[in-house]
Parts: sequence; C-alpha cells; structure tokens
Amino acid sequence: MIDMNIDFKKMDGLVPAIVQDAISGKVLMQGYMNEEAVAKTKESGMVTFFSRSKNRLWTKGETSGNFMELVSMASDCDDDAILIKANPRGPVCHTGSDTCFDEVNSSKTGFIDQLRAIIKDRKNNPTDTSYTASLFAKGINKVAQKVGEEAIEIVIEAKDDNKELFMGEAADLFYHYLVLLEAKGYELDEVMDVLIDRHKKK
Ligand SMILES: [Zn+2]
Repeated sequence: MIDMNIDFKKMDGLVPAIVQDAISGKVLMQGYMNEEAVAKTKESGMVTFFSRSKNRLWTKGETSGNFMELVSMASDCDDDAILIKANPRGPVCHTGSDTCFDEVNSSKTGFIDQLRAIIKDRKNNPTDTSYTASLFAKGINKVAQKVGEEAIEIVIEAKDDNKELFMGEAADLFYHYLVLLEAKGYELDEVMDVLIDRHKKK
C-alpha cells in the first residue's frame, strides 16, 4: 500500500522518513529518503534510505541482515515527510536495541487490528474459499454457537497440561469472538469502552 505524493523539490531532494513497526505500532527509527531511495524501497520491498554519512543509498540491514520489510508507505498532510510501516527482521538499531529510541518492541497485540480488518473484509467481500465468509453466511446463531463451542474446548484444554493445544483453542476462541463482534456490527473499541469505564469506577 503506497500513498505518496512527496514534494522533493520543496525539501531539497531529501525527506525525513519515520519507520513504524506494522504490527506493534512502535516507532523504530528515522532516516532520510530521496526519490531514488523511495523507488528502491518500492522495487525491493526492503526499506532503503539515503545515508548522508555514506553519501549513497543504504538499505537497512545490508550488512547486519536485519532488513525491514516494507508494508506501506505514505506521505504526510503537506507532502514533506514519509511514514513507513514495516516488519523488522531483527533488532533495528546498530546498538542491538529493538528500536533507535531504545524501546522494547515485543507487543504483537497490534495484530488484532489487522485481523479485525481482514474479518470485516471477509464480511463485506465474501469469497467461496473463506472460512470467515462462510461463518457470516450461516448467520448470527451459528457464529454465537461457534463461540460457545470454542469456549468449552478451551475449558477442556485448561484442565490438561498441553500448551500447544491450549494455545490453539485460545486462538480459536479469540478469533471466533472477533467474528461474533463483527457479525453483530460492534467494534472492539466499544468493548474497551466498557472495560475502561469499569476501571474508572474503582
Ligand atoms: Zn539506531
């Protein structure tokens, strides 16, 4: 997904590029891009900057192997900065830190939003091969029933001591729960509002 209309002339050919982890949302690093760096990033799928110290194009990870895979690239409101979303293959900073701002980048819960977007898309643009679309087609009772079944399955696994099976059921329950919310036409944020509100009352 590339949504760009950068005004390189306004910026003397070099534009700041902020890289964000596509899943966690953490800011990973900041660099500069010229037109060639943008073209190379698009073409290779690996985030590439113009390095002012090296005075050449520099693909992040070219020596360390810790590449950043491009997910999306977009310009800001006045076309003089770039926001890149990427999946880092390893620590981003040369110091070995997860990010250049020395933050830990371990949370994967941002994936929930990607999963919700996929579920919504399966509802709005159903395909024959999609399991999710088949659930929506069967209607709310069937979706709710699936949540009930998955809840029973996680209870059964909770009594055992097999992490792999428990994780499988935990994922199944969570996924079907998200499908149920979508089938009802509700947002996960609305559930969060209820939880936030309860927390406030304490
Ligand atoms: Zn760094």
